[in-house]
Amino acid sequence: MTTITSALQAVNQRILAATAQSGRPSGSVQLLAVSKTFPAGSVREAFAAGQTAFGENYVQEALAKIAMLDDLAVEWHFIGPLQSNKTRTVAENFSWVHSIDRARIADRLSAARPAELPPLQVCIEVNISGESSKGGVPPEEAAELAAHIQKLPRLKLRGLMAIPAPTDDPARQSMQFRRLHELLDQLNSQNFQLDTLSMGMSGDLESAITEGATIVRVGSAIFGARNYTKESSG
Ligand SMILES: *Cc1c(COP(=O)(O)O)cnc(C)c1O
Repeated sequence: MTTITSALQAVNQRILAATAQSGRPSGSVQLLAVSKTFPAGSVREAFAAGQTAFGENYVQEALAKIAMLDDLAVEWHFIGPLQSNKTRTVAENFSWVHSIDRARIADRLSAARPAELPPLQVCIEVNISGESSKGGVPPEEAAELAAHIQKLPRLKLRGLMAIPAPTDDPARQSMQFRRLHELLDQLNSQNFQLDTLSMGMSGDLESAITEGATIVRVGSAIFGARNYTKESSG
């Protein structure tokens, strides 16, 4: 077994265990393998081991991989910061976008989504920890953005995503995930029908699952440590 195959098995095992421990139905948590900075060959290996959904943060890097892997039925998720001038490329090449944080980006994605593809599945990114450096809408602005996105014909609003501030305090960590879940419940009580909580990464997926994550985004626990010097901002 390759390193990626066995690491993937271990992550799936962690997800199963956390799902069971939280008393949630098996299969209620989806694994998104975050392949940013890793080569197409690594994605191919994980795909061969049964993983089909992959997350990318950088448009140019993702495009190159998508082209090299077009023989595989990969479901591509865009999870990085999104600039206006990249919205067409993302609308044409991805199934999901987790990181919508303003109406203008949503408008452009909807306008550029090709008619022959299903609607783009999207999440609103919420700045759950209130860090000024982070992307995402403040929680109190999520409802307004959700109402805007719901009117766009080529987007399907699925839920919320967050990247909470890293912390060594397990109570604070759970609290941040819980807040995102509460915000989802609040929106659903206002007649939105959202089924997705995209939260939890390599180091904290158990806590995210306990708090209701439906998609965990896991990179380094599958592919190994990232070499940040290779990252591009595109
Ligand atoms: C890189 C990244 C991840 C994966 O992080 P790991 O700690 O490697 O699991 C998840 N979500 C987002 C938005 C990321 O940029």
